[in-house]
Amino acid sequence: MKVLITGGAGFLGSNLCRLFLENGHEVICLDNLGSGSLSNVEPLMKNKNFKLLNADVTQDLWEMDKVDLILHFASRASPNDYQTNSFETMTANSNGTFNLLKKAHKDKAVFLFASTSEVYGQASVFPTPETYYGYVNSFGPRSCYDESKRFGETLCYEFIHKFDVDARIVRIFNTYGPGMRYNDGRVVTNFIHQALNNEDITVYGDGKQTRSFCFVDDLTRGIYDFATRQGLKGEVINLGNPVENTMLELADKIIKITKSKSKIVYKPLPKDDPVRRVPDITKANKLLDWQPKFSLDEGLRILVEWFRK
Ligand code: UDP
Repeated sequence: MKVLITGGAGFLGSNLCRLFLENGHEVICLDNLGSGSLSNVEPLMKNKNFKLLNADVTQDLWEMDKVDLILHFASRASPNDYQTNSFETMTANSNGTFNLLKKAHKDKAVFLFASTSEVYGQASVFPTPETYYGYVNSFGPRSCYDESKRFGETLCYEFIHKFDVDARIVRIFNTYGPGMRYNDGRVVTNFIHQALNNEDITVYGDGKQTRSFCFVDDLTRGIYDFATRQGLKGEVINLGNPVENTMLELADKIIKITKSKSKIVYKPLPKDDPVRRVPDITKANKLLDWQPKFSLDEGLRILVEWFRK
């Protein structure tokens, strides 16, 4: 298959490029290198099935090669980063998704949209299933991401129902692993960076808010199966780890793994920061026989080693 991966030089994108190449596919990696980095795809450059295209998803893509599958992963995803680059984030998820859905229609390609647990906002059902509609602020610092991802999902709905495009949506919960930028501002990278340098660990709020962290290899395996399996048109699935941890527990694990002398300091909780987040993965398990294999401790050890190198 010929696969177009947008945001292919980013954290998830580059891990997906590698996985599709390993499975014998041709990969076109499209990235504007806004947050993606060449060093993520450098090891793939010597593969004759890999092509890097320095372009933006909001540009005209009509001249591009015909493809069989499009994975749309081009978007900032770290709260810090998407709030700083809010317009780029909004247009990648709206105009970019629109452009790529038109291309999927023209090429008769399968289209996979990288959505997010953020579409659930400040959820009130845990673990959160795909049927939960969300409780989302349309007018706040996280809205540029949350609402543009929600709009991207709506575009998929319309292309499925009006133009019969085989679009699928994966709602990705917090994921970590090699390929992340140590300074991307997210909790796992912040804590590891601080711990390795014996700096204070910055816990926002009281640290009792939860997230559930999925190791990248588990996530990309699920995405690969979801994108390549026949008969999943119009499906929306959660992918993430169902094990919930507080940020204090996470800090504790990272301090132990790195044998750090860091102390915890408390900083204000950012506005609209979700109190709890944990996916219901029953649907992914039924459709794809998928569940994560890596425990948080195993995954963190791998990431810490990768950062050390
Ligand atoms: N967080 C924290 N310290 C940090 C960075 C983040 O305590 O240095 C918290 C943040 O307030 C949130 C959680 O960790 O409750 C996860 O934040 P992240 O930015 O990784 O992504 P989110 O899950 O909010 O999209």
